Amino acid sequence: MLKIATEGMIRLIIFFTLSLFVTVGAYAQTLHEPHMRIAVSNSSSPQVALTLDACSGSIDMRILDTLIEHRIKATIFITGRWIKSNEKAVKLLNQNSDLFQIENHGANHVPAIIGKKRPYGIKPAGTAKAVLDELIGGELAIKLSTNSEPVWFRGATALYSNDAIELIEQHNYFIAGFSLNGDIGASASAKATAFRIANANNGDVIIAHINQPKRAAGAGVVKGLLALVEKGFEFVRLDEVEVVGE
Ligand SMILES: [Zn+2]
Repeated sequence: MLKIATEGMIRLIIFFTLSLFVTVGAYAQTLHEPHMRIAVSNSSSPQVALTLDACSGSIDMRILDTLIEHRIKATIFITGRWIKSNEKAVKLLNQNSDLFQIENHGANHVPAIIGKKRPYGIKPAGTAKAVLDELIGGELAIKLSTNSEPVWFRGATALYSNDAIELIEQHNYFIAGFSLNGDIGASASAKATAFRIANANNGDVIIAHINQPKRAAGAGVVKGLLALVEKGFEFVRLDEVEVVGE
């Protein structure tokens, strides 16, 4: 009787141990989307940090003109690939360095993921070396075309494997998370995008795209930003504030 009970318990322990390994294993393979907000100051007006990605493609002048006209500060994540085909836009960013902080979105817009997981079906870097090529390649392209020394990195798709995050941080970069997805990868309608951005809360880090001039979302970004200006929001860059993880 005692023997049977002991065997049963051993089986149970083995079962739970295996379950634990399976759970931990699954967790280790989970892609991570870091979230962050800005530490809200005692400033009288509410603050948001606008972050805009220039992945590849072109420049959305609807957004860039609005930022310049209304003196809206933004942190802009650009790739080496985008820099190559957007010389004029890079010049405009450089001419308005009081407004724009330029940061690293990688060399070729390849997700910073070690392993085989494909975020949104996109092929990941795969290896640590490829993640570093993406990080350092993006950094070099920015240093060659702007006066910026990037310290923030946002990988393509903003999803990472945990080991890629460690690797990027070991290279003295901060990972740029966000708290408000403004345009859902430039795929949202103008109306939905405007609504999402216009309803930002004090301390939000907004993510949207500045490289899709033909998509409706860009018109929504403009409308949403102007609504925030109207509401008295102050726009801050990531180099001006402290951030907190969520
Ligand atoms: Zn991107």
